[in-house]
Amino acid sequence: MKLPKVCQILGEYVAFDFEWDNTTHIMLAASFVNNLGSKKVYLNSHSEIALLENIKAELLEYSWSIGWNSNTSFENNNNGGTSNGGNLNDIANDNFIADDVQCDLGVLYERCETNGIDNIIFKSQKGSRAYYSIPGLYHIDLYQVYNKQMVQNTIYNRAYRTHKLDDVSKALLRHGKFKGLGGKDFLKLSIKDRKKYSLRDSELVMELSKHSNFEVLDAMLAISEITGLDFERVCRTNLTTWWGVLFDQMIQNGECPEPFNTFDRESVKYKGALVLDPKQGLYHNTVVVDAASLYPTVSIHSNLSFDTVNCKCCKNNSRAKVKLNDTFFKGCKFISKNKCWICQKREGAFPKKLKIFRHERLQQKKLGNGAKQLALKILINGGYGVFGHTKFSYYNPMVAELVTTYGRYTLTKMQDIAKKLGFHIIYGDTDSLFLNNPPSKITLSKFQKLCKEKLDIENEEKNTYNTLILSAGKKHYIGYENGLVAIVGYEGKKNDRCEFVKETFNGLINSIIKNNTNPIPALEKAMYTLESGKVDPKLLKKSIRLGQNPKDYKSQTCQAAKIGRAVGAKKGELVEYFDSNIKKTGRSWSKNYRHIDISKYKQSLWNSVSEVLEITKYPVNELAEKFDVRTIKRKNNNDGHVMQNLPAV
Ligand SMILES: [Zn+2]
Repeated sequence: MKLPKVCQILGEYVAFDFEWDNTTHIMLAASFVNNLGSKKVYLNSHSEIALLENIKAELLEYSWSIGWNSNTSFENNNNGGTSNGGNLNDIANDNFIADDVQCDLGVLYERCETNGIDNIIFKSQKGSRAYYSIPGLYHIDLYQVYNKQMVQNTIYNRAYRTHKLDDVSKALLRHGKFKGLGGKDFLKLSIKDRKKYSLRDSELVMELSKHSNFEVLDAMLAISEITGLDFERVCRTNLTTWWGVLFDQMIQNGECPEPFNTFDRESVKYKGALVLDPKQGLYHNTVVVDAASLYPTVSIHSNLSFDTVNCKCCKNNSRAKVKLNDTFFKGCKFISKNKCWICQKREGAFPKKLKIFRHERLQQKKLGNGAKQLALKILINGGYGVFGHTKFSYYNPMVAELVTTYGRYTLTKMQDIAKKLGFHIIYGDTDSLFLNNPPSKITLSKFQKLCKEKLDIENEEKNTYNTLILSAGKKHYIGYENGLVAIVGYEGKKNDRCEFVKETFNGLINSIIKNNTNPIPALEKAMYTLESGKVDPKLLKKSIRLGQNPKDYKSQTCQAAKIGRAVGAKKGELVEYFDSNIKKTGRSWSKNYRHIDISKYKQSLWNSVSEVLEITKYPVNELAEKFDVRTIKRKNNNDGHVMQNLPAV
């Protein structure tokens, strides 16, 4: 295998991890693993100063070092990378004040100061956040790389859900922290195990940096080459920074004018993608066609950019008007049919750059340059979203909303073409259509050909589901393809479901869709096990992560606010509880397993499986009666579109 370019930059480099006492911050251990396999662990056995000196000496050995949660404190960081993951992309977090230092280099800085010894760490302040660096040396906080949404989505296809070292490692490396333990268990371990525990964290960080032949870091390096930003800086910044620099350069080179429209930087949501009402049911042979990079394509096609929308030169040019039907403007927040136009005289900076990147990407693919190709893909696909981000220096919500509006237009036209060819459309979302029982392979290629001719859109066959269970709720379906079950949308908001319910749900899905067996006996067994009180309490624990401090919730009666307040939890913390009976215990929740209300768990289990059972024609009313649970009427969301949340940048 060819040695990735990033290896030349990094040379001999080291991954490190420190353990410290969560309350006193006294340094307890440190481990170092270099890329050639050398491993070292230091414990605080007699003196913290001796340990600190060893750490400093190790760090000074290498030009490049990497860590996990190492150079700035994110919300909920626990000791040594057991972070529950504050989201770097969440702009609200920019206001987060890290009064408690929770990153390796920060604690090292603090302990050197406290002990009155030489400090090799430099502390700097950006906004409300403190950053720690080693002057003269380079450092990458790998957490900030893996936390990037485009890394999660474009490179890893959402393989990991949280940004804990343990979760990311398990998802990508198939193994996690030492015995699955967390930092709080450290002092309970034997000396031998403390060494192993500490070492494992550094090993994981090193392995992640090398994962898939340095794929991620190599892509970051390629982005640094494309944008001209420092490699180190690329690792800790996002698309808004990268595209900002690209546009800065274009302005400097006289390739485009400065932005001429200004907007209030309030985060008002703009109208997003079109999501069709799903036709609830059980289907066999469903093809999902997907418009390849829809948003970049419409941006190029319609010349959408900060320097073309409502330009000075074409205000009175009737050809510059947006030629879309009135209906496409319904519900838009920033654009309207008569108040916006697109420049006819100049090609916009954004489409210009997109075209160059697309062309370049094809070249790089041919050359077999995976990293460059991937970097370009990240820039191309993430490009449109930055315009809707208030922190972006070229913030222009009109551009963002025009992009999604042309996207809705395109999906609508794709439907027209599909219908004319006799396809049965059962669902569609943003850039994809679900076509049940396509008339023939030939009609499918005809569809693709017409989309190309009329809309200049390439359509790919993304999935062919042998079996598909389509929920009445949008963005919820279960597909079975080539022996694999894809459960889409059932986990997001339902993470308050306990493990027992999740396991039973998954078992039921497998038995229906994969094994073609009767799922009812297993469901009955689960219900009876619940009733008999024989379920392991761990599997019945529910959890909520607090999105805010309890006092800041708009609804003070919501579960999160109530429980959070009662247990004194703060924003970002995970609160665990059991459902209990308010009549018996005075509360609808309890920390005590003995207060558990089994009927609530039965209902929760039933709610999670009943629609699937209904779709697959099991006698739901009869079963509900038998299990003594209520059948629920599902609310159908008939709104034809979703509002765009702040984009992932
Ligand atoms: Zn113009």
